[in-house]
Amino acid sequence: MLSIVATPIGNLGDITLRAIETFKHCSAVVCEDTRVTGNLLKQLEIPKKELISLHGYSDPQKIERILERLRRGEHLALVSDAGTPGISDPGYALVAKARESKLVIEAIPGPSAFLAALSVSGLPIQHFTYLGFLPLKKGRKTMLESFKTREETIVFYESVHRITRTLEELATVFHDQPNRPIVIARELTKLHEEVIVTTVGELSMIAKKLTLRGEFVIVIGGAQ
Ligand code: SAM
Repeated sequence: MLSIVATPIGNLGDITLRAIETFKHCSAVVCEDTRVTGNLLKQLEIPKKELISLHGYSDPQKIERILERLRRGEHLALVSDAGTPGISDPGYALVAKARESKLVIEAIPGPSAFLAALSVSGLPIQHFTYLGFLPLKKGRKTMLESFKTREETIVFYESVHRITRTLEELATVFHDQPNRPIVIARELTKLHEEVIVTTVGELSMIAKKLTLRGEFVIVIGGAQ
């Protein structure tokens, strides 16, 4: 069986009981970075466990070797560095191949940064679109422009290196819709958690004052 295990996005207290049980009982943990997962298992006091690295660029043969172990009846857990595997993280290819092979897959759900951000945003979340990381070059401008007419809430991830640029671009794109609500969620579940609730009209000012540390989720309210 392959267990898809979500792990904390910053606060160890968010690990689930089922995640701990799965780590204890599986024969190995397939992970993105063995140091990150090794550290998590150590903090959870899980006795030494085999770790198999599977990052975004892992070759198909490596996936095949993992599938072979699953076919032999081993119980493996799949994690990423933080949050839910496959959500803007490696994992999809293995899950897709395991499904093709009709292997048993179970979800051990838990944290995901975009869901945490949506839940505290105060913006309508009956319908939303999650976009992962925005494209860096090709299609970026078109995508940003398309936000103007979307009626549902939009949520996406941004890195500390690009947050200022993205906020400035949003301010430009939305210059004629200054009241569109936007929420910037930084370091969720961590010591320096910060949730800035504002409008795109204020973004240029916010971009100048923003603490440029940590991880960010951006949530934009839909067009009225
Ligand atoms: N798989 C993860 C999930 O389920 O949320 C996402 C992994 S993605 C590579 C990492 C991005 O998620 C970061 O660049 C940031 O945009 C967002 N993120 C992760 N942890 C966060 C946190 N504690 N606070 C705010 N954003 C976070």
